[in-house]
Amino acid sequence: MENCIFCKIIKGEIPSKKIYEDTDVFAFHDIHPAAPVHFMLVPKLHITSLGEVEEKHRDLLGKIMLLVPRLAKEQGCTDGFRTVINTGHVGGQDVYHLHTHVIGGGTERLPGMIPNPN
Ligand code: AMP
Ligand code: ZN
Repeated sequence: MENCIFCKIIKGEIPSKKIYEDTDVFAFHDIHPAAPVHFMLVPKLHITSLGEVEEKHRDLLGKIMLLVPRLAKEQGCTDGFRTVINTGHVGGQDVYHLHTHVIGGGTERLPGMIPNPN
């Protein structure tokens, strides 16, 4: 899709630190890492968000989820990781091309994402 930063990264029109690519999926380091390991997996197909997925995307979504632990371990997440898919305005999505964050590395437990009022 025109003017989509992740479509441009997939096409190589914007540089990225790629860690994985196959016919359907592209993975690259986040430019503003939240932890020692922080990368994203994106479908090459432009899907706006998790809020827009359809039955026809089932295999693609499954493929991405199966790649998450494999790439996480390859990148050095030896003791767990966090997987985040921000969706829409309330979900804090900034880039409207579906992406799965994988965050981890190091040995410290990641901070809680949403403060617990209790
Ligand atoms: P989200 O807020 O879930 O939409 O996440 C978008 C993510 O994309 C943020 O963590 C940004 O740091 C990251 N990002 C934006 N531009 C780039 C880029 N050119 N290369 C790598 N990561 C990027
Ligand atoms: Zn896109």
